[in-house]
Amino acid sequence: MSKHELVPANLSHWSAYHLFKNRSLWRKRIRFDTLQQHEGRCADCRQDLERFQCNEIWEYRDTERLAVLVGFESLCDSCHWSAHIGLSREMDEPYPGLFDRAFLQYCANNGFTAAQAEQEIVLSIVRRNQRSDIPWKVVVAPALLKAYPELKELERDIASEIEQKAQAAS
Ligand SMILES: [Zn+2]
Repeated sequence: MSKHELVPANLSHWSAYHLFKNRSLWRKRIRFDTLQQHEGRCADCRQDLERFQCNEIWEYRDTERLAVLVGFESLCDSCHWSAHIGLSREMDEPYPGLFDRAFLQYCANNGFTAAQAEQEIVLSIVRRNQRSDIPWKVVVAPALLKAYPELKELERDIASEIEQKAQAAS
């Protein structure tokens, strides 16, 4: 399995980044702390970073329908696109060459041959699609909440939201 999992479609716009990107929690604290934790380097390829992407690390526990935000990591551009390999394929049309670059990095970071990488991408997309219908309960790992209590705002339960909507409609 690859190091990073693809984000289920029903959670693609529900992230710490989307919720907090314009606030100092994200811009000043989380980004700063994350870069420091990784000593100014890319968490995947270890190169020194001048600019970086602050990437969210999520665990998806399918049977419990739990999506857990467990941490953040600093990534260089190539590793960030490699981590979001499904997205980089979609973005290759407006940005030609993006997927090739992400694919090379994906092979390097995971120790895959090109054939293994292609197979893993197909499997990852299947897994992502299966997950995209799960009514997730989104939670933040306790250690992370302790450091950033504001992240509580990210927690939600899609199943109960669906239920409430159904009740309101009836
Ligand atoms: Zn990197």
